[in-house]
Amino acid sequence: MYVSDRVKELPPYLFSRFQKRKEELKAIGVDVIDLGIGAPDLPTPKFIIDKLCEEVQNPMNHRYSPYDGSKEFREAVAHFYQNHYGVELDPDTEVLALIGSKEGIANLIQAAINPGDTVLIPDPGYPVYQTAVHLAGGTSTYLPLDAQNGYVPMFERVSEMDKQAAKLLFLNYPGNPTAATVELNTFLEAITFGKKNNIAVIHDAAYDLVTFDGYKSPSILQVPQAKEVAVEFGSLSKSFNMTGWRIGYVVGNKDLIKALHTYKSNIDTSQFLAIQKAAAHALRSDLSDVKKHNEIFKARMERMYQGLIEAGFEVEKPRGSIFIWTKIPAGYTSAVFSEKLLEEAGIIVTPGTAFGPSGEGYIRISLSVQLDRIDEVIRRIKEFTSKGVISS
Ligand SMILES: *Cc1c(COP(=O)(O)O)cnc(C)c1O
Repeated sequence: MYVSDRVKELPPYLFSRFQKRKEELKAIGVDVIDLGIGAPDLPTPKFIIDKLCEEVQNPMNHRYSPYDGSKEFREAVAHFYQNHYGVELDPDTEVLALIGSKEGIANLIQAAINPGDTVLIPDPGYPVYQTAVHLAGGTSTYLPLDAQNGYVPMFERVSEMDKQAAKLLFLNYPGNPTAATVELNTFLEAITFGKKNNIAVIHDAAYDLVTFDGYKSPSILQVPQAKEVAVEFGSLSKSFNMTGWRIGYVVGNKDLIKALHTYKSNIDTSQFLAIQKAAAHALRSDLSDVKKHNEIFKARMERMYQGLIEAGFEVEKPRGSIFIWTKIPAGYTSAVFSEKLLEEAGIIVTPGTAFGPSGEGYIRISLSVQLDRIDEVIRRIKEFTSKGVISS
């Protein structure tokens, strides 16, 4: 069949090979533990499900949603920003409902750049940025992030040529895959860099509420006048365990939001109104369910972190996200180490290189299994590494 070069050139879906091998191993009786999944395993809080059930009964909610989302949802997003971040938003021009933030990110790139334009993307980073830039006919330039600097952007390392060519800059904190977190000054630097070089700054805040130990992740819109150059993507997927519901939003710069709205209104007709109303209810809640959920992830993170330290890994304790990003023993590539961990210990992790070349030497471990399974993971990893992998 005739298909587009842009689609043909996409890299093969990263997880498909591991998933195939997982099925094969399970078929021969191996108890595979999958820590490759980038999604929370907990159920959606009951009050949100109850609200959905109520709204589903209302025939008014069976009609098309407005293209930019229901007013109720957009107002709830604005309320959340006011309450949680002290940021004021106009729900009519500065908020747009999305069918999950992934489509919003990919479609924003389509709406914001022309073929040949350059986009600065974090390396390592969420793979959707790069593939979406490719699908839009653009060129991705890596913004290097490194462990020594806590994975914050090092704008001084961006070349003059890239500064002039770039139209968009992507950032993501708490980060996937690195679990890195920042304070507001990092966003201030990014906004200053964006304004100075005429580059729009796009912050992906998918894990904004998934934080531990009293740490509160800032919004980029808390930087004064950030709206002149920035938008921020948010999602209910990770904070409220709603990945399958497909509901998110983008807030901030009016012009970018208008362009995305126009683009999307030719492709989709927003999300099911009952889902938008249940999501609005979640955003207006006291977030106590989010806190409970964070306690569960924190306990898993502590257990995994402690186990990795005992097994000799070099790893930082995260303040947010549902991941642990750890260095692997010297002498292995990320791909070989991940492969061996599956074959010899029955554990699936994601090789760091799946997130860009700077991920070499690291793996991403998802905290999406219960404590007893984490204990089993640690037991197997210790056994695996004691076979001489980490000898010193
Ligand atoms: C999960 C994730 C998303 C996408 O979330 P949606 O379910 O599409 O809202 C976006 N960015 C990052 C970094 C993620 O990990």
